[in-house]
Amino acid sequence: MNLSNIRVGNGYDVHRLVEGRKLILGGVDVPYSLGLDGHSDADVLVHALCDALLGALGEGDIGAYFPDTDSKWKGASSLLFLKEIVSMCRDKGFELANADSVVVAEKPKLAHHLPEMKKNIASTAGIAIDQINIKATTTEKLGFAGREEGIAAYAVALMVKNV
Ligand code: MG
Repeated sequence: MNLSNIRVGNGYDVHRLVEGRKLILGGVDVPYSLGLDGHSDADVLVHALCDALLGALGEGDIGAYFPDTDSKWKGASSLLFLKEIVSMCRDKGFELANADSVVVAEKPKLAHHLPEMKKNIASTAGIAIDQINIKATTTEKLGFAGREEGIAAYAVALMVKNV
């Protein structure tokens, strides 16, 4: 067995919560009074997942592929980034075996949006829903997430080379 055919990567991202922006998480437009600030749709969960995939392949981070200095990505759906990264991984022979993730947000409650987020991410990545897990947690009002200044996301992905 060639162990370099099994690759793990992690991703972490934070975006600031502001007024006048939609809250997009996992491609879901979550009803809330605040949204995440950013150049694209600022989907912090999808950004963390993208970085986990890139990390697994030793390919750097999302900023190198979709820079916030490029007007082409202004307001873009981050699912588009994920789609391109998954396609790049496939070109290198790697398939996403599974990904696990955590969204860190004091508010709003995300539990009932998680199935739709999983569906969006699985269909974008061309994998089954049970290959994606998304968890949501608060920080018990501690830190920037607890003060509702921003939302963070962590992701880990396992990539396996199709041989
Ligand atoms: Mg980001």
